[in-house]
Amino acid sequence: MYQDFIGFVRKIYNKPKGFIPLHEPTFEGNEKKYLKECIDTTFVSSVGKFVTQFEEMIAKYTGAKYAIATMNGTTALHIALILSGVKQGEEVITQPLTFVATANAISYTGAKPVFVDVDKDTMGLSPGALRKWLEENIEMVNNKPFNKTTNCRVAACIPMHTFGHPCRINEIKAICKEYHISLIEDAAESLGSTFNGKHTGTFGLFGTLSFNGNKTITTGGGGMLLTNDKELAKKAKHITTTAKQPHKWEYIHDLIGYNYRLTNLAAALGVAQMEQLPDFIKRKRELAKKYEIFFKDSGVEFVSEKKNTEANYWLNALILKDRKERDEFLEQTNEAGIMTRPAWELMNKLPMFKDCQKGDLSNSEWLADRIVNITSTVI
Ligand SMILES: *Cc1c(COP(=O)(O)O)cnc(C)c1O
Repeated sequence: MYQDFIGFVRKIYNKPKGFIPLHEPTFEGNEKKYLKECIDTTFVSSVGKFVTQFEEMIAKYTGAKYAIATMNGTTALHIALILSGVKQGEEVITQPLTFVATANAISYTGAKPVFVDVDKDTMGLSPGALRKWLEENIEMVNNKPFNKTTNCRVAACIPMHTFGHPCRINEIKAICKEYHISLIEDAAESLGSTFNGKHTGTFGLFGTLSFNGNKTITTGGGGMLLTNDKELAKKAKHITTTAKQPHKWEYIHDLIGYNYRLTNLAAALGVAQMEQLPDFIKRKRELAKKYEIFFKDSGVEFVSEKKNTEANYWLNALILKDRKERDEFLEQTNEAGIMTRPAWELMNKLPMFKDCQKGDLSNSEWLADRIVNITSTVI
């Protein structure tokens, strides 16, 4: 199987020799033209037309009413948490199977992550596990959810759409509403993925995107906040741009803001990438189809999109038989120059989060032992 897989990847990428990375950016459009325009006009920094244009394109594409650009996905999450009212000493529920940015952003606010299990099939936060944890741990006081063990308020919940596969976001949304918990979707990996035809990141109070170099589209580094709330959108723009009051020459800032804005240079890249996004998604889905056919009846599970969802197939994923087979697969493929990698170490196992409260995490542990991401660059 390993040899067949290595040969298959080399064939579809038309690269008989040499290293094949996991996910390379693709620049086939107006990237150079727009970047040159920034340099020629000197608008390379925090002022320029591309930032607004990029925000408008993202809003239109995702169906979010408002989109606010930030310097990366982590800062977008940080601001989403602050504007959701998460305070020092409170708690935020998320999944342990995620990139460290999700848990880091929670920590930046002084809140503590609480880890709740994922569903085996979606690899994203499980509504069943969420309800179970809340039923066992929450007491409602004046319509606010308090953790009975720590006496802290559970202020927000951040599900993540793992590798671009939407989680059961409608059920999670209903549970959060019932418990008066703010819903923030980490949609960093799921630009182009929909649940019941609605774009991921548009279900909660906020959604966040990332345009890091390995994501579906890239701005070098960049992120975006999505929201349908006009006031929150205004606040998000204000607080991410040093909270400066508009004035012809005065420098007056009305709260402690953040310099989290995206540069015009990065946004120029973003506009060029957005022009190609529908084509990228189409090609990523075609690639996934090829893998799906290749792995059919192979004994290895290829993760396909679930009912009622459309996945962007950001990173294609396999589920191997056990950790030993996973490690063998990683060894053989990487040895042969085909980059593959396991899922992230679970958040609850990292030194800074090991003492955080958690529910039963058996699905996350099962998946972490078996997931392998395989070559996903658009062909
Ligand atoms: C990429 C990613 C982010 C954001 O990362 P940045 O590098 O800060 O843009 C956040 N959450 C998840 C799950 C991610 O994969």
